[in-house]
Amino acid sequence: MSRAFLIIKADAIKQNVRRLFEFSGKPLIAVIKANAYGVGMVQIGKLLESLEEVSSLAVACVEEGIELRKAGIRKKILVLGGVLRGEEKAFLDYELTPVVSHREHLRALEGLNIPFQVKYDTGMGRLGFFEEIIEDPRIEGVLSHMSSPLDREFSIKQIERFRRILSHYRNLKMVHMESSASVPYRLNFTTHIRVGLALYGEKPAPNYPIELIPALELYAKLISVKTLPAGYPVSYSRTYMTSKSTRVGVVAFGYADGLMKSLSNKGKLYYKGRSVSIIGNITMDMTMVDFEDIPAEVGDNVQIVGPNQSFSELAKTAGTIPYELMTNLSSRIERVLC
Ligand SMILES: *Cc1c(COP(=O)(O)O)cnc(C)c1O
Repeated sequence: MSRAFLIIKADAIKQNVRRLFEFSGKPLIAVIKANAYGVGMVQIGKLLESLEEVSSLAVACVEEGIELRKAGIRKKILVLGGVLRGEEKAFLDYELTPVVSHREHLRALEGLNIPFQVKYDTGMGRLGFFEEIIEDPRIEGVLSHMSSPLDREFSIKQIERFRRILSHYRNLKMVHMESSASVPYRLNFTTHIRVGLALYGEKPAPNYPIELIPALELYAKLISVKTLPAGYPVSYSRTYMTSKSTRVGVVAFGYADGLMKSLSNKGKLYYKGRSVSIIGNITMDMTMVDFEDIPAEVGDNVQIVGPNQSFSELAKTAGTIPYELMTNLSSRIERVLC
C-alpha cells in the first residue's frame, strides 16, 4: 500500500450517473479528460463504459482517445480539442470523433470518412465557430459550452444564440451544451449532457438540485509524530513558530502530490474525524500538522479529502477550484477503485 491513496467508490459514481440521467432525462457524455480529472482515466473509463446511462466519453486530445481505445474501450469517444493536420489517421484508425471548432480542423478531415461534431462559441471565448453554418453530411452533432452557468442572465444569452444556430441544422444525432454546473437548466432541445466533475459527487454549484454522493477519499500516512518545544520553528522559512509544546505530525503528502502550497498555515486535514491544522509551509513531499492532544501514531492515515472535507471545500481554502486540485494529484498516489 502506498503512502498516499485515493479511494474511488464505484457505487457512488454509478449512483451519480443515475441521478444525473434521471434529473436531466438525457444520456451522459462523460468527460474524462486529463486522466479523468486526476482520478484515473482508464479505470474510470471502463467503469463508465459499463453503464447504460453513459452513451459516450469525451477527452481533450487524440492521445487520450488512443489510450482509451488501447485499453479496450469501445464506446464513442469525442475529442473536444479538435483535429490538427497529421492527427487525422489516428482518428480514423481508432474511431475517434473530432469536435471541429475551426476551419483548419475541417481541412484535416478533407476526403476522409470520419463523422464529426461542430462546436459553437456562444460566449465562452475559447473554441468554436461564431455563426458560420457548416454544411457537411458527416456532421452528426452540434455543441456549445457555457462559460458562467451561475450567471443566469448571461447563460440565457448563450442558450438563445445556440438555439438560433441549431435552427439551421437538420438530422442531428447529438446536441449538447450542459456541463455539470449547467445541468439544472434542463434544456429541452439538447439530447445529451456533457459532465465531468459531478460524476465524483463534487457539488458543481451551491444549491445544486441533484443530490450527489461523494465518491472520492484521499489519505496519506503519518511518517513522524513528535513533540516540538515552545518557540520552535516549523518547516521552510520558519513561517510557523510553536507557542507552546506542540505535537507535530508529518504527513507524507506535499505540493508535489497536489496539496497546494497556498494551504500552508491555512488548510485543515482530518484524523479520525477531528480536524488538524496545517502548520508551517507545505513542502514537496510532506506537510506538518498540529495534533494537539490527539493520540496519533506513525503509520496512521490522515484524511485530506473525505466526509469532513470535499475537494471543492479544500480548493476554496486554497483559493482555487476543485478541478485544479484534482488534476494536480500526482501519479505516486495509489488509485484504489472499490
Ligand atoms: C471539461 C469540459 C466539460 C465538463 O465540465 P464539468 O464541469 O466537469 O462537468 C464539458 N464540456 C467541455 C467543453 C469541457 O471542456
